[in-house]
Amino acid sequence: MTAALALESVTLTYPDGDRTLTALDAVSLAVAPGELVAVAGPSGSGKSSLLAVAATLLRPDSGRVVVAGRDTAGLPERERTRLRREQIGIVFQQANLLPSLTAVEQLLAVEHLRGGNVRAARARAEELLESVGLDAAKRRRRPHQLSGGERQRVNIARALCTGPSVLLVDEPTSALDHERGEQVTALLSEVTRRHGTATVLVTHDRALLGRADRVLTMTDGHLSTP
Ligand code: ADP
Ligand code: MG
Repeated sequence: MTAALALESVTLTYPDGDRTLTALDAVSLAVAPGELVAVAGPSGSGKSSLLAVAATLLRPDSGRVVVAGRDTAGLPERERTRLRREQIGIVFQQANLLPSLTAVEQLLAVEHLRGGNVRAARARAEELLESVGLDAAKRRRRPHQLSGGERQRVNIARALCTGPSVLLVDEPTSALDHERGEQVTALLSEVTRRHGTATVLVTHDRALLGRADRVLTMTDGHLSTP
């Protein structure tokens, strides 16, 4: 099957005083639609950098990043932004929800930015939130009225709004206890199947890797099979 996300020999450096720090060292990774790949590794090993490059938020020094069949390197910034909005769902560690909006409105805000039909967007938002396990009452709550696990569910539903082919998830359970973390990981596995996303989950918590189709390890910018 064609990969929905492919990184080919990607190298990324950051300036570090008068030297450079190699955060990603010739990293290659291909993820198929409907596949959940977990990347484990200690803090500072390059996991978030990997996601930032895959999300086209950072341009690598060298190598290719192919999203939904398009090589992103040569794309002008506007095209990259559009590809990112349409094809990539991003879930960060902190839910980054807007404090004044209800769960449904968090998703509608995304639709609004895209200029979509409001009524269709509302129906889809309700459906997505339902599918991540939030009942009608919870869908009307604001972030401070939801638990950490529920906020991450909203976050995941929001990332799925645009029907992305790639889902990138950075340490989604770090603010949760083990059981809630396990539930969020199970949800990610289910979402990956149902929506057919090519999902990359990065975590330093090896206890959460059981649901993944494949587990890779990041060590000092090198990605390897354990
Ligand atoms: P992880 O997510 O696995 O903790 P990161 O990708 O955040 O790892 O970081 C990898 C390495 O790159 C670390 O040594 C980190 O200090 C460094 N780094 C990350 N972001 C930046 C940045 N914006 N500027 C300089 N160095 C960075
Ligand atoms: Mg990180």
